[in-house]
Amino acid sequence: MFLIEKIKKFIFSILVITAILTWTAVYYAEAGNKALKVVFFDIGQGDSIFVETPSGHQVLIDGGPSSTVLSKLGRELAFYDRDLDMIILTHPDSDHLNGIVEVLERYNVDLILWTGIEHTTIAYQEFKNLINQKNIKTKIAMSGQIIELGQAVFYILWPSDNLENRTSYNINSTSIVAQLVYGESEFLFMGDAESRIETELIASDFGNLQSDVLKVGHHGSKTSTSLEFLKTIRPKASVISCGLKNKYKHPHENTLQNLQSINTKVFRTDLNGDVKMISNGENIHIKTGK
Ligand SMILES: [Zn+2]
Repeated sequence: MFLIEKIKKFIFSILVITAILTWTAVYYAEAGNKALKVVFFDIGQGDSIFVETPSGHQVLIDGGPSSTVLSKLGRELAFYDRDLDMIILTHPDSDHLNGIVEVLERYNVDLILWTGIEHTTIAYQEFKNLINQKNIKTKIAMSGQIIELGQAVFYILWPSDNLENRTSYNINSTSIVAQLVYGESEFLFMGDAESRIETELIASDFGNLQSDVLKVGHHGSKTSTSLEFLKTIRPKASVISCGLKNKYKHPHENTLQNLQSINTKVFRTDLNGDVKMISNGENIHIKTGK
C-alpha cells in the first residue's frame, strides 16, 4: 500500500512537471509569434548574431572567437532548449568559427549553411568532423537562394559562385552576405565582406539592398563600408561587432566617418554590449546591454 502511494505521488509529480513544461513551451511559442528578434552578441573581437523569427525558428550567424557564445545563447534560449534550426558560418576565420565548434558539441542543429571553402585550421577540421559525426544537414550558400522561416525570409546575396572545396586568397570576401526580411524590416548581414563585394552587390541585380539595419562588414575595418555602399543601403541603424580595445584597432576612423555622414545610428558591441533588436514587421525597437 505504502509503495502504491509513493508511485501515485511520483506519477502526479511527473504530470505536474510535464504540464509546466508544456505551458512554458506554449508561452515561448506565443511570445515568439509576435516579433522577430535579432541579437548582436558582445563576444569580444568577432561576430555572433542570434535570430529568432516570429514562427520560433532559431538561427545563429557565426559563433565568435570562443566559448563565450554558450552563455550568450543560454540567455536567449529556454533552459530546456538544446536545438537550433540553422547555423550560418559566413566564413571560416577563427573569430567567426571557434564558437560554432563549441555550439555544435552541445546543441542539436538542423542545418548548417556555409560556403564549403577550403581553409586549413584545426578548428575548421573539428567543425567538419562534428558535421560528419553528428550527421548534420549542410547547404552550400550561393546568391539567389531564399530560406523561408515562417514569415521571416533570408535572401542569400553572396557568394555568387559555389565555393565548395575551392581556395581563396581573400577569405573575408568569400563571406556569406544575407538579408533578413520580416514585413517592412530588413537586416543586412555582411560577414567580413570587403568593399569589392559591396561594389559587386550594388552592380548586381539581386533586388532591393536597402535595409533598416546594417551589420557593418569586417568589424568596421577600412576595407569595408564604402560611402557608395552606405548610400545604397541607407541603414537607419548600423552595428559594428568588435572587441574592446582590440589589437586591429577596429573600427577604423574612415568607417566611422562614412557612417556618420549618412546619419545612421551606430551601435558597437565593444561599447554598447549586446545589441538586441525586436521588430514587429514595421518598427524596430533597440535595446543595448551597456
Ligand atoms: Zn572577422
